[in-house]
Amino acid sequence: MENIIILGTGCAGFTAAIYAARANLEPLVLEGDMPGGQLTTTSEVENFPGFPEGIDGYALMDNLRKQAARFGARFVNDYIERVELDGDTKQLHSASKCYESKAVIISTGASPRLLGIPGEKEMFGGKGVTTCATCDGAFYRDMEVVVVGGGDSACEEALFLTRFCSKVTLIHRRDELRASKIMAERTLACDKIKPVWNAVVEEVLADEEGLARAVSVRNRQTDEASEIPCKGVFIAIGHVPNTKPFEGILNLDENGYLVPFNGSMVKTIVPGVYVAGDCADHVYRQAITAAGMGCQAAIECERWLAEEG
Ligand code: NAP
Repeated sequence: MENIIILGTGCAGFTAAIYAARANLEPLVLEGDMPGGQLTTTSEVENFPGFPEGIDGYALMDNLRKQAARFGARFVNDYIERVELDGDTKQLHSASKCYESKAVIISTGASPRLLGIPGEKEMFGGKGVTTCATCDGAFYRDMEVVVVGGGDSACEEALFLTRFCSKVTLIHRRDELRASKIMAERTLACDKIKPVWNAVVEEVLADEEGLARAVSVRNRQTDEASEIPCKGVFIAIGHVPNTKPFEGILNLDENGYLVPFNGSMVKTIVPGVYVAGDCADHVYRQAITAAGMGCQAAIECERWLAEEG
């Protein structure tokens, strides 16, 4: 049986792994279906303390992983579908295996939200619809693309895409950006980015080969419909927490975020089970706050194991 199993390898999971490993608890880290988490799909991270010139998201996560491994954290690529958390031994089931542990830190993060419109699923991946400019931007060199959303992610994606694309149309459902001031100003000052306000995307339209050729949008004020030609559709409308295996077992809010227990930021109703990062934080959702929660969860877990484990 393991001392601690950590679910997820974003900033929260890696930081928990560093702390647990340095406490000689030899944590087992299950990497999930997106090793390295959301930051691996980000280009430049400018606000993580300690990097005055910024750092590439992938490089940051790779550093955290190496730091955890250096102290004895072990990594396995597996995805937990179902958990049994009552009793002294916590059981975590993947499709092929049951892992047993005294304690668990849940840092499963959040996944990109989709629009749920016709054409989105059909063209997702290689056919024009994506949620990751860093991953897919270069495929759209000299082409026209749209970005959907008005937050920091949408601005970041749009700015990144200007490196490759001939034109970037930013479609937002309201008439002002939700993004932080600095990102909003940078985005709106960029000549290659054309904002389309008060517009909802209703469908992704395909050409005869099944590749994206345009989006149909409707203006929310005039109800007027139009088409915006584009080869790429980058959806950046926020995230949904990855908490399905814990439904009915731990406290979740109405949007599926894990709710910590009894005034703590990281404890749950089940002793020995802790939460950290975006799966339990819909307020701050930053790399540095996720790392902080990972640290807290590991310290709480270490103390609990010393007393109860
Ligand atoms: P977000 O801040 O929640 O913004 C989501 C955007 O998508 C909002 O503008 C929202 O519109 C729009 N939206 C949501 N559902 C929609 C739908 N069904 N149809 C059309 N539009 C929809 O999410 P985020 O941009 O991913 O950012 C998440 C967190 O990460 C934030 O705290 C952000 O500051 C942080 N972040 C920081 C950086 C950075 O600092 N470099 C980069 C990326 C993210 P409304 O505005 O109308 O609600």
